[in-house]
Amino acid sequence: MKISKSVMIISFICFLVVFVPSANATTFGHIHSQGGKFGAYYDSSIASYGYTSHFDFARNAWAGISPNVAISKSNTKGYGIDEYYVGTSSTPHLYGLFTPYNNVFGAGVPVDPSNSNWVYSVISVYDNNLNTDGYKNSTNIRHTTTHEVGHSLGLAHTEDASKKAASVMTAGSEANRSINTPSDYDKNQLRTLY
Ligand SMILES: [Zn+2]
Repeated sequence: MKISKSVMIISFICFLVVFVPSANATTFGHIHSQGGKFGAYYDSSIASYGYTSHFDFARNAWAGISPNVAISKSNTKGYGIDEYYVGTSSTPHLYGLFTPYNNVFGAGVPVDPSNSNWVYSVISVYDNNLNTDGYKNSTNIRHTTTHEVGHSLGLAHTEDASKKAASVMTAGSEANRSINTPSDYDKNQLRTLY
């Protein structure tokens, strides 16, 4: 399967990027090069796994918190357009990944979001792990899609202990997966960027 293979390769790269220690902050310090308004391409795997409404939900969850934030659905890939995929991962308990890329001579090169802005990002959600761990329902899936789209807008993991319980941006190991909309704290963090 072409899609599964590419998603697996992407997930391996993401694993390396995501676990590079970054600034101890709730924002990465850098954002998408187009700011808070950009397009997102839905790979065909989104519809075939039945995740279209879950990614629509995630985009809408963040839209309008600032007038400068709106991710639009794109029917085509292209420069500066994010890409969404659903697939499988061989890494247990990994439900979603965000990886920012720069475009170097036409090829995507992963970047550390705490070091520079990025041209586009790839979000992958892992259906097999959600299913295996009992999270394959709308509420829990939308936690993951909203969380990863939050990363694509420049939000890092919530570090303030008093804010973690309500935040959709809390790291996976401490996440409350029944939360799938941004908390007031998450919204305020987004407004610091846009
Ligand atoms: Zn995360």
